[in-house]
Amino acid sequence: MKISDVVLTEVTGEFPADELQAAERGSRPLDVYPEFRGTRTFEPSHAPDEKVRQSDVYLEVHTDEGVTGLFGPVDGGHAIILRREIRDFLIGRDPLAIEKTWDLLLRRNRHARSSYYMMAMSALDCALWDLKGKALGQPVYRLLGGPVQEPVRAYASMLGFSLEPEALAERAAEYKQLGYWAQKWFFRHGPPDGDEGAAENVEVARTLRQAVGDDIALMFDAFNSWDVPYAIDVARRIAPYRPGWLEEPVPVDRIEGLRRIRERSGIPIATGEHLYTRWQVKQILDAGAADVIQADPDWCGGISELVKIAALCSAYDVPVCPHGHSLHAALHVAAALPHSVLPQVEFLILHQRHKQRFMKGFLEPESGVIQPPETPGLGIEIDPAKVQSRRAVE
Ligand SMILES: [Mg+2]
Repeated sequence: MKISDVVLTEVTGEFPADELQAAERGSRPLDVYPEFRGTRTFEPSHAPDEKVRQSDVYLEVHTDEGVTGLFGPVDGGHAIILRREIRDFLIGRDPLAIEKTWDLLLRRNRHARSSYYMMAMSALDCALWDLKGKALGQPVYRLLGGPVQEPVRAYASMLGFSLEPEALAERAAEYKQLGYWAQKWFFRHGPPDGDEGAAENVEVARTLRQAVGDDIALMFDAFNSWDVPYAIDVARRIAPYRPGWLEEPVPVDRIEGLRRIRERSGIPIATGEHLYTRWQVKQILDAGAADVIQADPDWCGGISELVKIAALCSAYDVPVCPHGHSLHAALHVAAALPHSVLPQVEFLILHQRHKQRFMKGFLEPESGVIQPPETPGLGIEIDPAKVQSRRAVE
């Protein structure tokens, strides 16, 4: 079998505006500049009956034997790399020799080690695993050595939900009721918002703990937008509410800063959704800078690399909880590893509803656990009934 083409297709459709819409944007690194600070809370942007247009790009790897690998949606930025840098090099190669393809692509371009290039390689790697699963008639988690975990635990990631005290407490109680054993919330404030903002962040943690009681894990995400002293201060103040972790208090390349926050705050620190490859993860592990690694198969180097990262982390006794950008890919890896190595995946409640818009069915947890699709490959299938138009991305 040989790769005959690598195709990017943009699909467009119209969907009823979701009744669940983001009401909160959380703190951002750019907030240090007043002109970018803006408002962090907003009303729903669409009426519930309004039709909303959406376009997504999917990656397909075609073969001379008619088997196709599918992955997506993929980001525009690395779509260009896939199309211009990678496509021609792959034509004629063995699609099942995924490890070789990965190594060739890494060695071929000196900028391949990270960022958009590695994200493009990640998407390709995931599409090749889908293709391999379809060629061999097996779901990807079986090809990876699973099933090990059946089902996999998923935590509710509450990005976009309101932090207003009443709504916050209600939503937290609702997701506890739905059977999720853990929730992650995103802080609204950072250093530019001063003492008042810090106090509000602490109040969010207090309200949540009160709303869900003692038996639910609560995690918090600062989206790279804090600094070291602020993180240590807020972390110490939320410690009484027993956070499962504080995530990305500072950008992941501030390794020494992360280590100081971890040592001085007394609460677990999570990071890694913006790490590329095992070599970047190893630097964090060697520095003792994190308690949880959150590599994302959509970005870190694909399914192939996430498996290696998990093996590396297990040697340091640091669990991997993959970031939830690509649920399908993360879930297949999770189902093929022990709970002690990969205890849970992230389910972004609002984001996944958009991300899976063009897919057949909806992959979501039930009572806080989730099963990977049983169909050959990753189980991502575009529903033609949802596609109004499609065009090739050149
Ligand atoms: Mg995060």
